[in-house]
Amino acid sequence: MLNVILVLVLCGAGAFFGGREGALAGALLAAMANLVWQRRALRHLVRWARNPELGQIPYGRGLWGDVFAALELRSRRHAEEVLALTQSTERFRLAAQALPAGVVILDNHRRIEWINVEAEASLGLDAAHDVGKPINHLLREPAFVEFLETSGQGGPLEFRTQRNPGHVLQMQLAPFAQGRLILLIRDITRLEKLATMRRDFVANVSHELKTPLTVTLGFLETAQDALGDAPPEEIASYLRTAIEQGGRMRCLIDDLLTLSGLETDAPPPLEESVSLGDLISEIKAETLALSAGKHTVVVAAANAPKLRGSSRELHSAFLNLATNAVRYTPEGGHIRIEWKNTSAGGEFCVSDTGLGIAEEHISRLTERFYRVDRGRSRSSGGTGLGLAIVKHILERHGGSLHIESQVGVGSVFCARFSAARIIH
Ligand code: ADP
Repeated sequence: MLNVILVLVLCGAGAFFGGREGALAGALLAAMANLVWQRRALRHLVRWARNPELGQIPYGRGLWGDVFAALELRSRRHAEEVLALTQSTERFRLAAQALPAGVVILDNHRRIEWINVEAEASLGLDAAHDVGKPINHLLREPAFVEFLETSGQGGPLEFRTQRNPGHVLQMQLAPFAQGRLILLIRDITRLEKLATMRRDFVANVSHELKTPLTVTLGFLETAQDALGDAPPEEIASYLRTAIEQGGRMRCLIDDLLTLSGLETDAPPPLEESVSLGDLISEIKAETLALSAGKHTVVVAAANAPKLRGSSRELHSAFLNLATNAVRYTPEGGHIRIEWKNTSAGGEFCVSDTGLGIAEEHISRLTERFYRVDRGRSRSSGGTGLGLAIVKHILERHGGSLHIESQVGVGSVFCARFSAARIIH
């Protein structure tokens, strides 16, 4: 519009001052001015196009104004799209970072392009130093190198790396965009330990049952062969041994059932209250019966309170500790059963002047079938499960087992309970 006015003004002025020639000169002048003006707008456009920043788009009038406005709109939309894309990429990055599994992205030369924190920890890598490096220069174990070469087509790899000793990792590789690979890592150390424990447990149970079963069958066969030939006392002694072995098997199965019950049952309700004074009196009577006068048994539980928990389970745990004191204390020894109120709550302790236990065994005593002296445990009727049961029961009552012992001096086993469990 401005251009048209300028042309008209210049032509009009030319015609007014110089007639036809004047009008022509005016038109030429107007055309030149228009050209200069167009060039100026174009120059602004070129300058902006070299560095197209939003908000810096040149200002223009007329057609140029429309062009610049259209460009500004386009540029704004583009900036919004870039922002949305950046935010969505960031969300994906944060999601991959938050995954409870390790993730490594490898480029088509198997160099680390991106790695999350979990993968850094599992593989013992450091993103700051290791991004950009070929992964097989960092993890050189042959099993991993082969896994990488075949792009994991043989299935997941179970892998232990020297960079993170003691851990078992399960890895999976998946190809994606343009020859890249995504490496997924799961730390299966705990699952592996559980699987090993389960295998060991089945092997131990089978072994523990097989021995008395073999003895029982052996004596029953001998008794059968001797029937009619051997004197009845001899046959009776074979049968007695077979019954004894049968009893051992029953004890073992009872303990196994107790343990599995403790593992599967819900913890005892908090509302049930157990009188520890009464419970300890029962334990005393049973300990005296088991000792059969071979030990002195002292009880100190005058100020024993009530405890929230299951009386059946607590009875089983306390009796286990007292029974062990009898079984592992030679004749003439002393056993003390007591309840102590402490600042943190209270504890039920059984002390003895028995064989004692060497330091290296103490932390393992609550493992199933762990025994310091296998022969001694068996001969005294032990199953190797007693302290495992005690530990379970105490955990279900929010308590814990503490053991102090010295070889040749004696042992103290204490079941500790927090104040929250005690009713005064
Ligand atoms: P076990 O049936 O073999 O007694 P436990 O789980 O009750 O099984 O005990 C595990 C092991 O701890 C026993 O085999 C024994 O070696 C040791 N032990 C437990 N209590 C005592 C104790 N009071 N004195 C010495 N050793 C003990």
